[in-house]
Amino acid sequence: MRTDATTPIPRCCTTHSDWAGLARHLVADFGGVPTKAIVDELSHAKRACQLFQLGNQDALDCAELIVRNRVLIATGRSPSVPATVAWRTAVANVA
Ligand SMILES: [Zn+2]
Repeated sequence: MRTDATTPIPRCCTTHSDWAGLARHLVADFGGVPTKAIVDELSHAKRACQLFQLGNQDALDCAELIVRNRVLIATGRSPSVPATVAWRTAVANVA
């Protein structure tokens, strides 16, 4: 999965109706990225969405986009932003 500034961030589905389901879908879509890293990103995104008091489905949708964007950037899959050293190391250690 690789995107650029003009490509919408891919979404996994419209069926995840809870946080655990979204986490499973994100982990499945980002093979090679440590599960803990994705779960940590989702936890941060969930808190941000709850801070803005979004409804459940809006919060899930918003958090999904936040996590996908951050993981794409962090892993270098977004061509406009290089991967961070910490993420490159974490991903390399899993592969
Ligand atoms: Zn999904």
